[in-house]
Amino acid sequence: MKQDNCIFCKIISGEIPSHTIYEDEKFKIILDVAPATRGHALILPKSHYANLYELPEEMASDVIKLAKKMMVKMTDKLNCDGFNVIQNNGEVAGQTVFHFHMHLIPRYKDDGEILKYIAGSPSGEQLEQIRKIIAE
Ligand code: 5GP
Ligand code: ZN
Repeated sequence: MKQDNCIFCKIISGEIPSHTIYEDEKFKIILDVAPATRGHALILPKSHYANLYELPEEMASDVIKLAKKMMVKMTDKLNCDGFNVIQNNGEVAGQTVFHFHMHLIPRYKDDGEILKYIAGSPSGEQLEQIRKIIAE
């Protein structure tokens, strides 16, 4: 399952070079070409799925297990102080490559704020309204 004009499908097939740090039958993990920090990597499924909505459940569970394994290894090898595991779905959420991927971002003391959002301050009533919409 490969999609024409998908940059990550081309990386997986070897058509476009990448720096691979891990590979198995289902996944490839490459270094991000424009890293947020030293060692920023991307987990790519070898089959094309646009996002987490499309990723089969079994692959979703495989990917989080792999993220944990790599995070532990990278923390040891890179001696980082923390880690962000991030996954964007849809343009509005910051997704720019529409082949599912999970960011593995090692964090270092004083590496600056690479991820930031403005915290809201909803009332208890507003939170309850949202809870009802989602949970009921
Ligand atoms: P997104 O914004 O979709 O969550 O993340 C896409 C990521 O892919 C970005 O961090 C970007 O730097 C990375 N990226 C885009 N094109 C390439 C490429 O050709 N090679 C590699 N290694 N990373 C890429
Ligand atoms: Zn693809």
